[in-house]
Amino acid sequence: MSYTEEIYNRVVAQNPGEPEFHQAVKEVLDSLKLVIDANEEKYRAVSLLERLVEPERIISFKVPWVDDNGKVQVNKGYRVQFNSAIGPYKGGLRFHPSVNQGILKFLGFEQTFKNSLTGLPIGGGKGGSNFDPKGKSDREVMAFCQSFMTELSKYIGADQDVPAGDIGVGGREIGYLYGQYKRVTGLYEGVLTGKGLTWGGSLVRTQATGYGLIYILDAMLKDHSMELAGKTVVVSGSGNVAIYAVEKAQQLGAKVVAMSDSNGYIYDAEGIRLDVVKEIKEVRRGRIKEYAAAVPGSVYTEGKGIWSVKCDIALPCATQNELNLDDAKTLKANGCAVIAEGANMPTTREATDFILDSDMLFLPGKASNAGGVGTSALEMCQNSMRMSWTFEEVDEKLKHMMNDIYAKISDAAKRYGVEGNYVTGANIAGFEKVADAMIAQGTAL
Ligand code: NDP
Repeated sequence: MSYTEEIYNRVVAQNPGEPEFHQAVKEVLDSLKLVIDANEEKYRAVSLLERLVEPERIISFKVPWVDDNGKVQVNKGYRVQFNSAIGPYKGGLRFHPSVNQGILKFLGFEQTFKNSLTGLPIGGGKGGSNFDPKGKSDREVMAFCQSFMTELSKYIGADQDVPAGDIGVGGREIGYLYGQYKRVTGLYEGVLTGKGLTWGGSLVRTQATGYGLIYILDAMLKDHSMELAGKTVVVSGSGNVAIYAVEKAQQLGAKVVAMSDSNGYIYDAEGIRLDVVKEIKEVRRGRIKEYAAAVPGSVYTEGKGIWSVKCDIALPCATQNELNLDDAKTLKANGCAVIAEGANMPTTREATDFILDSDMLFLPGKASNAGGVGTSALEMCQNSMRMSWTFEEVDEKLKHMMNDIYAKISDAAKRYGVEGNYVTGANIAGFEKVADAMIAQGTAL
């Protein structure tokens, strides 16, 4: 049995009931096989893979809070501090009813390689809660965030672990979390990213994941003698990543015709009007179906099915496993030539294999959504220096970072004889740096 198979079996046996974590480990180990086989003796000698798949620490805690009816509610809170070989743990907090330890382990594991790809000194972590902010009043969200941070504050710090937003955690939640951190610790430090601009936030952070996705997509298209201008694009989701991916794609001349939320999707043959989507989602926290009422000629369809919309480029920007094998086949049959992931692991393993075996181009989220965490690291940098860069300065650094990531993953794929396979390229490029740092630091981690 190969070293990678051995480790995968060990992960399944030792982490029961965590299918997403198994899936993420399998995808990474399968694509690292080329590197591991070539260096097996070296890695086995220090049990590198055994150490790589084990989080350094998992903090799990109770989050009691009082709702608007005076009733005490209890949620589960977590922080998975996965790997600190190249820097302090860094990764988002997710508030969604589906959150459990296995999902956060998958996200923390992936984050380690993604953060490595950014070229910045940040390790991998992820956290969150099964709390559902949907339908809660501002006061309830604040009460929850304050309770969550009262416990989490014991384990994080600007040079230790720096959380950010993710699904269900936007500017409002970061504000409440940051206020409580300061109150409990007495420290005004860059402990969270995604902060407001008047209290330590960075310009471009809000846009960074979506913009970064389009910058790296553009770099890949150019490398394959294609261009974004004039292409028809479908984007799933209508949250932070989706909205700013649409904004940048439109700025670069693409026509985005569909977006979604967890209830259904909208189709607008004239091109999505992003001002309407922002008003619904960012201002009123409404549902995407309201778009159809606001824009004549557009159509709302209840349920999944966004991948049946004909397009040249598909950008899954909602959540994990939202694009399955049937969806991939439908996209291909309808002429879609490019898929780039804005969300984390939105494409199932079977769908990814199908896409890689076809002539479609595919960018994995680990590389293509790294602009968010990369810009978070730029926010940390500005906090440490007590300085703020202009929008243009940060945007330029983000663009540079995404071009650099494309060059790294493309080069790694070429070095190992799988040119154009950016899944393998991203995993190898992310892994090499982390592995070197772990070996250099001995058995401490
Ligand atoms: P948001 O909460 O802002 O938006 C999420 C969007 O996806 C919403 O439209 C939501 O619809 C939809 N969605 C969530 N869960 C499901 C589901 N189970 N089925 C269908 N649709 C769903 O999150 P973000 O935009 O921040 O994150 C989206 C993805 O991008 C996640 O995978 C996240 O991990 C990843 N990501 C985010 C980064 C960031 O900087 N924000 C950085 C890197 C990755 P509804 O409103 O109905 O729930």
